[in-house]
Amino acid sequence: MSRVIAIDGPSGAGKSSVSRIVGKKLGFLHVDSGALYRIMTWQALVRKVDTDNPDEVAAFAPTVEIECRPENGAIAYYVGGEPPGDRIRTPEINAHASQVATVKAVRDKITALLRDMTRFGNLVVEGRDITTAVFPDSPARFYLTASAEARARRRQKEEVEKGIANQSAAAVKASLLARDAIDSTRKYAPLRKADGAIEIDSSDLTLEQVVDIVVEKVNEAFN
Ligand code: C5P
Repeated sequence: MSRVIAIDGPSGAGKSSVSRIVGKKLGFLHVDSGALYRIMTWQALVRKVDTDNPDEVAAFAPTVEIECRPENGAIAYYVGGEPPGDRIRTPEINAHASQVATVKAVRDKITALLRDMTRFGNLVVEGRDITTAVFPDSPARFYLTASAEARARRRQKEEVEKGIANQSAAAVKASLLARDAIDSTRKYAPLRKADGAIEIDSSDLTLEQVVDIVVEKVNEAFN
């Protein structure tokens, strides 16, 4: 049986960086579940689906084919044989992803893809519903959080460094909070701290400090 480390939390809490490093240290494949919701959103926009119409999104969901395969310590995604790259990281995708993620057909599809990935080996999976809905029985579950200011600062820096966008800190914060609000109030698998998950507030911690806490708790959980 594969082992799964599950990490949830709001946008910009540092889940991706922490998961990537923890995965490398422990030899677990990194799984970015948010990227799958972003791919669905990207494809919906490409195909001119009305992302505010849940019925239209539900009908479109089964038509998207996403190939998942392990590559360089992570699960890589391909659509039509191509990696989506930064096309799924734009402010436009940010603005529509949470709406697409409210649709049950989308969530069911992605949950099935994520559970199927255990055939590739041990995983560190990050997202919004991994500890509560996708892998609720994992003994290593974390809720990573940080103040809205710290999260917006990190996201803005990342967008500028990657050359994806050059928005003000206020605009990034507004976008994060808008997504958090939809993510935590939706009907299916809302973002919340799971009972028994270990909460880590990273506002005043370095990345290395958060990684060390997670690795220590994972070792306790699996031993
Ligand atoms: O993590 P990331 O910001 O890339 O996720 C994009 C969006 O996908 C989130 O705002 C959320 O609406 C959705 N999501 C989700 N469940 C997950 C991961 C992401 O609903 N497990």
